[in-house]
Amino acid sequence: MNGAKIFDSIKNIEIIIHDHKEEIEKLDQEIGDGDHIFNILRGLEEILKLKDILIEESPEFIFKQLGMKIMTTVGGSSGALFATLLLGMSKKYDPAHSDLNNISQMFNEGVQSMKIRGKADIGEKTMLDVLIPVSKSLIDNSNETNISKVAEKISFVAKQGMLSTKDIIATKGRASFLGDRAKGHIDPGARSSQLAIEAIANQFIIS
Ligand code: ADP
Ligand code: MG
Repeated sequence: MNGAKIFDSIKNIEIIIHDHKEEIEKLDQEIGDGDHIFNILRGLEEILKLKDILIEESPEFIFKQLGMKIMTTVGGSSGALFATLLLGMSKKYDPAHSDLNNISQMFNEGVQSMKIRGKADIGEKTMLDVLIPVSKSLIDNSNETNISKVAEKISFVAKQGMLSTKDIIATKGRASFLGDRAKGHIDPGARSSQLAIEAIANQFIIS
């Protein structure tokens, strides 16, 4: 893991989110206030601007700076939550470990921090329905040597998690005000998170 790889992944996330702009906007218009796509794209644009000054720095420092940038520039619940994820991730980087081991530990810490920050857990119709299963899958597979296989697994798990948000009610976030009316709609944060996971997984899937 290094600065160049981290920024390549962020660029790939930006491309996939941009390609699904209208879909994500519509999802948040249905069960939220419509700004989710704007918040996500704003965050990605702000952190991509830091590429030249951060690319040579250590992953620990990079994730911390990215988290702080999002914290200070992106609004909505997702701004604070993604910032918390990145700041959590920065705490667990250890150069003695393999990339997969590192990313599993870092991501797990980030997701735990996000759960605490948002006082939420799995099954509440949020992005955690994608991020928690992905984090578990990464931990379970952190010693696997076939990276393509792990990437396929997390891509699958993320998709299942995203789809699981469709038929449940929300107990956190704006969609919780809708009660039963939130049923039948995929959570926008779950969709954007799943796309981000897919973008990263695709970098490693050898087909
Ligand atoms: P806002 O809801 O403040 O307008 P966004 O539209 O940017 O913020 O983000 C909405 C998304 O945030 C939701 O689709 C959901 O996935 C996620 N979300 C909301 N509250 C929480 C929470 N407490 N924990 C985790 N994710 C949450
Ligand atoms: Mg919103």
